[in-house]
Amino acid sequence: MNPAPPPSVTDFRAELALLMAAYATRHVVVLALDGVNLSAASTCWPSAETRLLRAVAPTTSSAGWLSALTGLDVADHAVPGVVFSDPSGQGGLVNFLNHHGPGLTPATENVFLDAIRLGRTPLAVLGDLECYASSWRDALLAHAQPITGHRFYTEHDAYHRRPAAEVAARVGTAVEETLARHDARPCLLWCYVEIDQHVHRHGYDEHTFRVLTALGEFAASLATRDILVVAHSDHGLVPTVHDPELADLLDDLGRRYGFTMGGAGRMRWLYPRAGTGPELLALLGEELPGDIRILPADEVFRPGSPGRARVGDVLLVSEGGAFLTDPEYRYDHGSFAPEETETPFAVWRVK
Ligand SMILES: [Zn+2]
Repeated sequence: MNPAPPPSVTDFRAELALLMAAYATRHVVVLALDGVNLSAASTCWPSAETRLLRAVAPTTSSAGWLSALTGLDVADHAVPGVVFSDPSGQGGLVNFLNHHGPGLTPATENVFLDAIRLGRTPLAVLGDLECYASSWRDALLAHAQPITGHRFYTEHDAYHRRPAAEVAARVGTAVEETLARHDARPCLLWCYVEIDQHVHRHGYDEHTFRVLTALGEFAASLATRDILVVAHSDHGLVPTVHDPELADLLDDLGRRYGFTMGGAGRMRWLYPRAGTGPELLALLGEELPGDIRILPADEVFRPGSPGRARVGDVLLVSEGGAFLTDPEYRYDHGSFAPEETETPFAVWRVK
């Protein structure tokens, strides 16, 4: 008998539905904290019950949040990463944040629909998602009443560094103001904080720990007021710097062999010309550094699925500290390191 697989981010929707049903007369507040791994959460939240939810593959926000809120695998919701085959069927590749219009995902149900079915007001404080108008965000927040006017890590659609105490205070204000306006019946209030923006540039530093500690204290204070609080995440990050030689090598191979490249941070995928996949796999094995794992896409994305149809046939997965990334970044995500794949599901129960 095979042991049951560990719970994953895809189980978040079902876990939240159980809590919403069990605490039917209470508000439920969800802090959706992009880029927080289990280790950081466990250190900063001594008053919570915190357990592991395994991130989806790749460990990237577009895939992870959609899996968490819809309960669907990446193979089924079909948003596999950052850059992938254009869902409109016009050919070419698209960045998920630039896709507007139908066809992105077959997902229709999510945690906000669950909340409505349970008699709750479904509220989404967009927070740092205000930057990301797209059909991805529409799918993520379908059925929710959007609440705008609260930014934490972004301003003018770019990273904006604020002191830790100010970030936590802004989150507190966003939650308290929203609860005060919707107090007539129990709500689900989901609030997105893109800590990921900071961790990409500075890692899990003192700022990150201060923000998480302050958010944990805020959650504990809500629990004393009969409000159930959950905090969850999409992925963690690991040290990663840009390797310009690798970028040049892949550019050169792409020109010579005619492939294009999509992907998500520390996982990239190549779209070889028809029939050249096996040759390319062998060639890459000789040319690329040893800390880049090369594998067929079918090993990560279920063959024949809508998600698999959008990724290239050959995956490159970083297992080291130098890969392709934004030159501003010191940390990135997308691959299979435990610091990326182990995310928290934390609950502060009503006493
Ligand atoms: Zn990120």
